[in-house]
Amino acid sequence: MTEASKTTGSLFEFGSKWDYAPAPEARDWVKLQSRYELFIGGKFVAPHSGRYFQTVSPSTEEVLAEVAEADEADVDAAVAAAEEAQRAWVALRPSERAKYMFRLARAVQERSRELAILESLDGGKPIKESRDVDLPLVCAHLFYHAGWADKLDLAFQGRAWRPLGVAGQIIPWNFPLLMAAWKIAPALACGNAVVLKPAETTPLTALHLARICQEIELPPGLVNIVTGAGTTGAALASHARVKKVAFTGSTDVGRKIQSAIAGSGKKLTLELGGKAANVVFGDAALDQAVEGIIGGIFFNQGHVCCAGSRLLVEESVAEELIAKLKDRMRTLRVGDPLDKNTDVGAINSKAQLETIRGLVRSGEEEGAERWSAPCELPGKGFWFSPTIFTGVTNTHRIAREEIFGPVLSVLTFRTAEEAVEKANNTMYGLSAGVWTSKGSKSFWMAQRLRAGVVWANTFNKFDPTAPFGGIKESGFGREGGRHGLNAYVEIEG
Ligand code: NAD
Repeated sequence: MTEASKTTGSLFEFGSKWDYAPAPEARDWVKLQSRYELFIGGKFVAPHSGRYFQTVSPSTEEVLAEVAEADEADVDAAVAAAEEAQRAWVALRPSERAKYMFRLARAVQERSRELAILESLDGGKPIKESRDVDLPLVCAHLFYHAGWADKLDLAFQGRAWRPLGVAGQIIPWNFPLLMAAWKIAPALACGNAVVLKPAETTPLTALHLARICQEIELPPGLVNIVTGAGTTGAALASHARVKKVAFTGSTDVGRKIQSAIAGSGKKLTLELGGKAANVVFGDAALDQAVEGIIGGIFFNQGHVCCAGSRLLVEESVAEELIAKLKDRMRTLRVGDPLDKNTDVGAINSKAQLETIRGLVRSGEEEGAERWSAPCELPGKGFWFSPTIFTGVTNTHRIAREEIFGPVLSVLTFRTAEEAVEKANNTMYGLSAGVWTSKGSKSFWMAQRLRAGVVWANTFNKFDPTAPFGGIKESGFGREGGRHGLNAYVEIEG
């Protein structure tokens, strides 16, 4: 285990780092503005159109703030500011760039409590996840890439390299600040400037990050935040002077972006959807596997691109494992994201709740057997009980489509070959998990599973030193590690 990975947690690995007050007081840690403007050229500016949209708390449906909607003119202004800042940034000595980046990492670390609460408030995820997983990982990514800023000749092994210029970065709502850090940190480390567009349902942490950039006097224009929905994202991706597009989101939108910029010469990375197989062999430590399965699918309400949403279990232990799984699911506490005892928070938006409901209905109609953990769901807000489907076959929609919610589809297998065939029978290829007490079996499986990441006897482990990314329709390009830097430079030879 590396030093960095010790700092990062996985689901249900809770430290009691901060002694959280009950929910109402926890909220007081965050000073919300009633209105948020765009962050362009180091200043908060009103959008040209004068239009604003609301961001709501998915656990209460309360309107948290109004947020500016950027149009093409705003995106153009942000790109112009980024271009100017990038010229000055790249002229700085690498060690000076590193100093700024370390300063940013430290400032975010100092503000972790506020940012974690804000993330849970705006996105619905349990505070113990934003506190113990998201924010530590955000800081780890910022520190890790600050470390690369003056060592790039080493990273690129002496080959001539140059930054690309302005990167347009578009991120989803499931890990808002973490995805912002994954995007911004390598771009700046490699001498680029960025225009980042957060998802429309979770813009607040990126905007507070903008405030931090201002406070630490990061050169104005180096990081620009333009808020809005798909049209803002499309304007950013296809802006003529954006040289690199980094997108994390759904496969559908990834496809649209790819065709919109085809032939433009822009460098592109796509981090898209997934339908990961979590494969449990009969010889696995079953209680440990149960924890891994629970974490694999219920972490962040299942709003996880690499979620272990298909459980493949060896037939001989299927009954025992499913019984243990249901027992463990009965103990999960669903509710207020700001309560430190909550295991499963709110579904991110009404639209996402409808998607989950629709796919769950299809599972029932197609003949799979549904079991939902008995729990009382709050009256207001968007909620879904942790659910498993047994008797699932690969033809069912719930086995093929990304539900992106707390819903697990269980399939069985008899041989390792059958497990591999079923696991790979998907258009996606982002992640997979294997549970077995035999090391040789883990390696045998890892060689055959068609996925960017394969975890053995663990799941959802992230580390900034390890490249992450997909194959097949889960996208291309890597984020993190030395490989992740390649996406932000042009290398000669
Ligand atoms: P989404 O594709 O709907 O939206 C993602 C972002 O793209 C948002 O900011 C959105 O406003 C923007 N957008 C929408 N239409 C656009 C367009 N035409 N052009 C440019 N930008 C546009 O995805 P989502 O619902 O926000 O997120 C969930 C998806 O993200 C899931 O499929 C999940 O698997 C995927 N995801 C992947 C990873 C990964 O690393 N592979 C990580 C997190 C999430």
